[in-house]
Amino acid sequence: PYNGPSADEVFQKRKKFLGPSLFHFYQKPLNIVEGKMQYLFDETGRRYLDAFAGIVTVSCGHCHPDILNAINEQSKLLQHATTIYLHHAIGDFAEALAAKMPGNLKVVYFVNSGSEANELAMMMARPYTGSLEMISLRNAYHGGSSNTIGLTALNTWKYPLPQGEIHHVVNPDPYRGVFGSDGSMYAKDVQDHIDYGTSGKVAGFIAETIQGVGGAVELAPGYLKSVYDIVRKAGGVCIADEVQTGFGRTGSHYWGFQTQDVVPDIVTMAKGIGNGLPLGAVVTTPEIASVLATKIQFNTFGGNPVCSAGGLAVLNVIDKERRQTHCAEVGSHLIQRLKDLQKRHDIIGDVRGRGLMVGIELVTDRKDKTPAKAETAVLFEQLRELGILVGKGGLHGNVFRIKPPMCFTKDDADFLVDALDYSISSSAIVAKLYKKEEAGRKKVMEEEEDEDDTFEDAVCSKTPARVNTPLSVITEAFENLADLLKPDIS
Ligand code: PMP
Repeated sequence: PYNGPSADEVFQKRKKFLGPSLFHFYQKPLNIVEGKMQYLFDETGRRYLDAFAGIVTVSCGHCHPDILNAINEQSKLLQHATTIYLHHAIGDFAEALAAKMPGNLKVVYFVNSGSEANELAMMMARPYTGSLEMISLRNAYHGGSSNTIGLTALNTWKYPLPQGEIHHVVNPDPYRGVFGSDGSMYAKDVQDHIDYGTSGKVAGFIAETIQGVGGAVELAPGYLKSVYDIVRKAGGVCIADEVQTGFGRTGSHYWGFQTQDVVPDIVTMAKGIGNGLPLGAVVTTPEIASVLATKIQFNTFGGNPVCSAGGLAVLNVIDKERRQTHCAEVGSHLIQRLKDLQKRHDIIGDVRGRGLMVGIELVTDRKDKTPAKAETAVLFEQLRELGILVGKGGLHGNVFRIKPPMCFTKDDADFLVDALDYSISSSAIVAKLYKKEEAGRKKVMEEEEDEDDTFEDAVCSKTPARVNTPLSVITEAFENLADLLKPDIS
């Protein structure tokens, strides 16, 4: 049993001693004390199905035994020495990672996070090409460090800092984008930016293949192939940010960029690479890597023995447990079930994604695609009450992001879809009644003789008994809506 401080004590201390920019999910923040594969436990011992994996990070499952073992065994021998000495773990891990890459992507730099990986990618692209101009997509997230904030194109994350020489091109978003699914039209916008906004030469182009923070937006088909050609003709290198899409998560491929049939010049990784260890990597060609050889590029912890041993164990687990195939199978089942649900609930505007990287975009009307911001916030709270943790994202916070540990099963997927179905159905009733509440409960009851049930009775009788969401949670959620409508985390 847990003997630590209560959720409130933890929260108070965090508020007092940690920076005010910290963001938390849920009105009553969840205090997680333990994790086991696809489950998390709070301090009362309540179990939650984790469909967000600590933001797509716990790729193989919480405290996966093989990975724990590798970390523990290495920790007992040597935790840290840094690359000024030799240690086999970093080379073993780099070799295994390079073996997963296509083409001539064979040189690895290890860092500690995704932001650092993208910083380093830019640090190579600029001197290598002799140009400063970078291109990234609107709605992209590539980090929160002072340079990567420039690549990130969502106002919620941008502090007033120099944003670098960065062009944000039209997002090839098949659902909301002006050109629908026509990848070539969006690619033309990249050419226009180069022609009108630069000297004609660029340093590079960076994109995720499925935008994570942006709300699981898959790029229009054919987009990357055309853009890579355009960028290379303008002297630039092509960078794939695989921080969220890598390591088999998309099911059909090991790397996200393979879904668009391209081979990048630089690939950046983090999150799932370490199953929770602070680890990131940049993989590139020997030629591009050599541009940093003119100075020293040093990173104290990058590829330290414990992280390298853990990272290697992650690669082995993904192969041994056939996680890529598993993601394809469970993901297609999940997506199909969500598409069926979409037929019954107008609020579901779009279901998209690949494998276990799925987005559900909620809209108040399907024609104008008005983001169902408040409704998403309420449903998000309800799912938590039902024991399911999902992510939330998109500029308007109206997209559920489903990116569980890759051990997530079909049964888990079914539970998630059933819970969402139940929450949407019960919320529709609550929302309707809540409006009537505003008009005055008495008046409603007088006017509608056949509906003589009270607000509470109506909700409880019209929802399945299987899961009993306390009504207070739903109504409270409506009352504190302003609190829920804050920007989202990465
Ligand atoms: N790239 C992508 C696609 C990301 O989603 C994130 C984090 N959300 C980053 C880069 C930055 O990673 P980190 O938070 O580890 O710096």
